[in-house]
Amino acid sequence: MIQNKIKKIVIITAMQAEALPIVNKLGLIEKNDPTIKPFKIFSKQDDQHECVLITNGICPKYEVDRVCTQPAALTTWEAIRLFSPDLIINAGTAGGFLRNGANVNDVYISDDTIDYHDRRIPLPGFKEYGIGNFPCLSTNKIANDLNLKKGKISTGNSLDMCVADEELINLNQAQVKDMEAAAIAEVAWLKDTPMIAIKSITDLIDSTAKTEEEFINNLESAVKILAEKMQQITGYIFDKTVTEL
Ligand code: SAH
Repeated sequence: MIQNKIKKIVIITAMQAEALPIVNKLGLIEKNDPTIKPFKIFSKQDDQHECVLITNGICPKYEVDRVCTQPAALTTWEAIRLFSPDLIINAGTAGGFLRNGANVNDVYISDDTIDYHDRRIPLPGFKEYGIGNFPCLSTNKIANDLNLKKGKISTGNSLDMCVADEELINLNQAQVKDMEAAAIAEVAWLKDTPMIAIKSITDLIDSTAKTEEEFINNLESAVKILAEKMQQITGYIFDKTVTEL
């Protein structure tokens, strides 16, 4: 089968703090279009390639970033409808685990499938639906070439980790915990669009430190490294086919 080269990439981020360093590194320009609210769109295009970054935007009620799965699913649906990308990259921050050898500022690339750890539905058929197991691209080559750690991602709607979440994270054999990737993978899969996730580690869930304190203290350095990696990654990906990644 002949595969098309990747010419159009859409990057999806949850938080403005994750988006802006990438926007600056890639030289993207904000689209001034009030109809796209609450999303924010930044882009760059030449006659061959287009790179678009879309964020979930700010919640008008609480004036914070619209993190979590519902906003991520809406953003992904709208991004695919508006841009029909060849590839979606979910770029963001995440928690890692000391027991897997993770360090703050490590950058992981998604591996194989992405699960949810907070959709527990013990009914026939629904158990598996809840966990999701949505596909992302296999990424051996890009992981090796750009020195990224490969890790299975698990997604839930909480920053903390209750015992039931931990059990599913362990069952899912996940190394990376975030709040959006599975929702983006689910919509991308529904719409037949290849996706990968790139996650920079802000906190180590099984350390003695409080996750929220670690997150706030390490956010700036983690998003700086994320932006540097995203510059390498987009440069690497353009003009390759998905099987060449
Ligand atoms: N904006 C808030 C916190 C955002 S929630 C603040 O500044 O306090 C955390 C965001 O980072 C989510 O988008 C999530 O995907 C990611 N994240 C980082 N560490 C995480 C962890 N340990 N568990 C789950 N998500 C994490």
